[in-house]
Amino acid sequence: MTLKYGVMVCPKCGMAKGIESNKKTTTCQCGREIVMSRVKIMFLTDSPLELADSVAKANASLRGGEQLLTEKKSRKKDPYFRIAERAKPIKDPIERMRVIARELTELKSGFSLEDVRKVAAMLGKDSPEDIIARLQEHNLIYETEEGTYKAV
Ligand SMILES: [Zn+2]
Repeated sequence: MTLKYGVMVCPKCGMAKGIESNKKTTTCQCGREIVMSRVKIMFLTDSPLELADSVAKANASLRGGEQLLTEKKSRKKDPYFRIAERAKPIKDPIERMRVIARELTELKSGFSLEDVRKVAAMLGKDSPEDIIARLQEHNLIYETEEGTYKAV
């Protein structure tokens, strides 16, 4: 079985492009005709979905490490991201939830389900509803008013 699709970078415009590997030439959107045997095929797959994904990824990284870097930087300043980073290595789920609650309390002096959701989304482990429910169950947070919580 041969892999049908590949990714290459146009030597003229520098954009990544998905190609069918059984063809001899392809034309880039910049107008350049590319002879396949002269370019390096970076990625081979049978799945058109995987192909589209890797073209997008290649273009994102080609377009500039710079842009990606600033995105990463500003993300680091995001307090929710910081909390998620701190909670991530903690194995014990209750301990992890407790750290999230404590950090959110420090950050906002009272947090909501929405705040937990932002952290939980980055962790991808527990649902925000679960986190609130389990913390309440263990008396680790209390509700100061409808929908607002504080760590004990
Ligand atoms: Zn091109």
